[in-house]
Amino acid sequence: MQQLDHQFIDNRWLPSRGERRLAVMNPYREEVIAEVTAGHPDDVDDAVAAARRALPAWRALSGAERGAYLEGFADGLAQRREELIRLSSTNNGKVLAEAAIDLDDAIACYRYYARQARKLDQRQGQLVELELGGIEARCYHDPVGVVGLITPWNFPLVTSAWKLAPALAAGCTAVLKPSEVTPLPERALAEIAQEIELPAGVLNLLFGDGEGIGAPLAAHPGIDKVSFTGSNRVGESVMRAAAERTADVSLELGGKSPILVMDGADPAQAADWVMAGIYFNAGQICSATSRLIVHQAIAEKLYAALAARIDALVLGDPLDEGTDMGPLTSARQRENVQAYLTVAQREGLSAVRDAHHRQLPKQGYFVAPVLYRDVPTQSRLWREEIFGPVLCARSVASEQEAIDLANDCDFGLAATVVSGDVERARRIGRQLQAGSIWFNSEQLVLPETGWGGFKRSGIGRELGPWGLSAYLAVKHIVGPA
Ligand code: NAD
Repeated sequence: MQQLDHQFIDNRWLPSRGERRLAVMNPYREEVIAEVTAGHPDDVDDAVAAARRALPAWRALSGAERGAYLEGFADGLAQRREELIRLSSTNNGKVLAEAAIDLDDAIACYRYYARQARKLDQRQGQLVELELGGIEARCYHDPVGVVGLITPWNFPLVTSAWKLAPALAAGCTAVLKPSEVTPLPERALAEIAQEIELPAGVLNLLFGDGEGIGAPLAAHPGIDKVSFTGSNRVGESVMRAAAERTADVSLELGGKSPILVMDGADPAQAADWVMAGIYFNAGQICSATSRLIVHQAIAEKLYAALAARIDALVLGDPLDEGTDMGPLTSARQRENVQAYLTVAQREGLSAVRDAHHRQLPKQGYFVAPVLYRDVPTQSRLWREEIFGPVLCARSVASEQEAIDLANDCDFGLAATVVSGDVERARRIGRQLQAGSIWFNSEQLVLPETGWGGFKRSGIGRELGPWGLSAYLAVKHIVGPA
């Protein structure tokens, strides 16, 4: 069995100082496939020291030079495509198509920030337009320094790419902590760093859990900024730790995103978008559109179309090309989702398809795809992130009611509008409080458009030029012309 008991520091694998070991699972076979160290705060000290040593030379390179290394990461991932898709599917329970999206979006992200790094050179020293004569002001973008990057288990390669690519493009050096649940795919980043001869200490990869690595990293005085993707509970603790030393944070947290299906929409087409929004990756996606808000004129037709599609979903081995939905990624996540299904039963929610409507595969951490209708707005299932294949629906009588219901939420990460009228879809989109709003599509995440949330979905934006700005500190040099 693979033992991940070393940490990647200074481009070398050094034994972890941590003594605890954690099991890494195949969630379909319910088998242990590797053991990973839980890490130790001393590992964090070593990695931060390496990143600090590497910072002056790395930030002194031109953006074009740093961009060439980012192309190297993209090429290295592309060369391992088949192997990584299978590994990610095995460790995560994703079906192959979902694992391919994780990888391909990561590759696109490294290439995008390679281009942005080159453009950064042109932005350095630009003159600022001034009202006052006789004065010259030039604007520069410095890297914020050494950054701590903490990622979750649901899309390991892409969530790390969204942080690592812009951080390295900006001239920062990094300590990356993958989730202890899915440490295997991100291990490839260390191998690639060695292959492309990334300068030692620019990327340090620490395996471990929250106690061994996450919390000490977030609290470390040598870390200038923490970028975190994960749960609200942990994100808030990361922010508190950063506040102790006035360090910068970016937080990508939970979601409870709505999909609004307006009157006049084609129920069959709408049903396809609704399915893609909630059962993709078994609902384990922060931007899952888990609240369906449908106009009463088409609600019954839509529920019927969804029931037929849910019945047709094939659950099974994620490595099998014919599988639509794999297991949840961990036994713990299955318990979390099942706890919500128990609440639904207690609350007497009416189901179009409940948790017992089908036989589940004999092995694997499966939960059946579920659809509740007429869910009261005070229900915990309507208000809280479940992170599983559970869709809650309500019908409304008007466009304004749909918008008000969509915005009546603690989160604001994403939203979808389905309408036969594109102008109407855009108009509704302008009134929704969310970072990404899709119309007549689902989960369209592009490197060029920003990613991040309103309200409790987080702080800051990843992707696009905003994702690069998150790792840059602006300064001006001003004096007589
Ligand atoms: P999590 O918060 O449990 O863990 C996330 C990461 O934080 C892991 O690497 C974990 O080891 C680490 N961690 C745990 N305790 C820590 C601590 N005290 N200090 C620092 N780090 C610590 O989240 P998860 O279960 O891995 O992922 C699911 C959550 O992530 C969901 O809430 C989901 O919405 C969110 N998520 C958000 C986005 C987004 O872009 N907004 C994307 C993916 C996932």
